[in-house]
Amino acid sequence: MRGQLEGYNLERKRVLVIGGGTAGMASALDLVERGVEVFLIEKEKEIGGRAADYCCKATEKCNRCTACLVLQQKDKVMQEPLIHVLTSANVKDVTKNGRGFKATVARGEDDIALEVQAVIVATGFDPYDLKRRSEFAYGLEENVISGLELEKALKEKGSLTAAFGSGIKKIGFIQCVGSRDLSIGNGYCSRVCCMYAAKLAKIIRSELPDVEIDIFYMDFQSFGKGFSAFNQELRESDKIKFIRAIPSKIYGFPYDRLTVRYTDSLVGKPCEDKYDLIVLSLAITPSEGTQEIAQQLGIALDDYGFMAGRSAQETVATNQAGVFLAGVCQGPKDIPQTIGHAKAAAGQAYLYLNS
Ligand SMILES: Cc1cc2nc3c(=O)[nH]c(=O)nc-3n(C[C@H](O)[C@H](O)[C@H](O)COP(=O)(O)OP(=O)(O)OC[C@H]3O[C@@H](n4cnc5c(N)ncnc54)[C@H](O)[C@@H]3O)c2cc1C
Ligand code: SF4
Ligand code: SF4
Repeated sequence: MRGQLEGYNLERKRVLVIGGGTAGMASALDLVERGVEVFLIEKEKEIGGRAADYCCKATEKCNRCTACLVLQQKDKVMQEPLIHVLTSANVKDVTKNGRGFKATVARGEDDIALEVQAVIVATGFDPYDLKRRSEFAYGLEENVISGLELEKALKEKGSLTAAFGSGIKKIGFIQCVGSRDLSIGNGYCSRVCCMYAAKLAKIIRSELPDVEIDIFYMDFQSFGKGFSAFNQELRESDKIKFIRAIPSKIYGFPYDRLTVRYTDSLVGKPCEDKYDLIVLSLAITPSEGTQEIAQQLGIALDDYGFMAGRSAQETVATNQAGVFLAGVCQGPKDIPQTIGHAKAAAGQAYLYLNS
């Protein structure tokens, strides 16, 4: 069935936002404050994006992971009459219509026709596909998990013990899996995984003071404000061990713990250690469908397949008038940076509507 979406006001300016994660929600909320009507298209059953699954990383104090901001945004979006949220929906096609755009959105059996004056792309990221790295035994060993899976398990179950049982005595975090690796074409830093691994280690230490935690890293990135001090506290007070090495192999035998083989770059010799849980900090990679959306809208991709801004400095505007980028679809960012970028996208879209 093909039809117009009912209940929207043709007198108002309208923007199509593709992707209902942190970025899409932040752009939508900024636009409605300026009196613009928004169609927020989300392919999943619910809006919120990846960060809606993250756990709170407070210990005796808030550790400023900002995951709760995303849930607040979600509530606001759902209550906002000027934001039309279309979930389980996909943009089937978009074509230029004068200075604006005509779009067809597919939802179930229905095709919905929309006319908008600008488009914001906020399609986020996918985690690096671990099928490309069989040496880490992901999918083969139950207790080799990704950072995303640890976030979700802690959020759903409330504690490490509730999620993984009481047998966890030693945990290894492995950084930069799929990032900063020119051999697989991902030469960039994913920017958020040092920070989230450190904060996850901190909450596990606070729940289980006797569990040993090792972090395997090559170069620890501390992008956020106050992160260096946080890191120092992890090493000195929390006794979390930092091992400068990227493991070459993880393997398990029935009824045994997981073995991690690595060469410690400071000591310079091969080592093996046993763990009960391994957490892989996977690279942030362009989300599935990025290429298709870029083609539909006539925008370019960068060398790593993220949506490309007009230049290295102009990361919000694209080479297509009226199409703007918000959040991690343009490259790795944490939640506060994503929100800042998405608000800038809303601001530039608003200027375009009124130019
Ligand atoms: C393991 C992990 C832990 C993290 N922890 C933290 C943390 O504690 N604090 C922090 O600040 N940052 C954290 N981050 C970073 C955080 O996840 C990102 O900053 C944030 O999710 C970016 O939001 P986004 O909207 O750009 O992307 P996403 O969250 O990926 O949202 C994109 C949305 O678009 C939808 N979508 C995709 N394609 C389409 C399409 N074609 N049509 C319609 N909808 C589509 C997706 O379903 C999704 O809902 C973490 C990242 C990882 C990987
Ligand atoms: S979710 Fe993060 S920012 Fe919010 S209270 Fe918990 S630790 Fe603090
Ligand atoms: S943020 Fe840390 S773990 Fe992630 S790619 Fe950069 S250096 Fe590696």
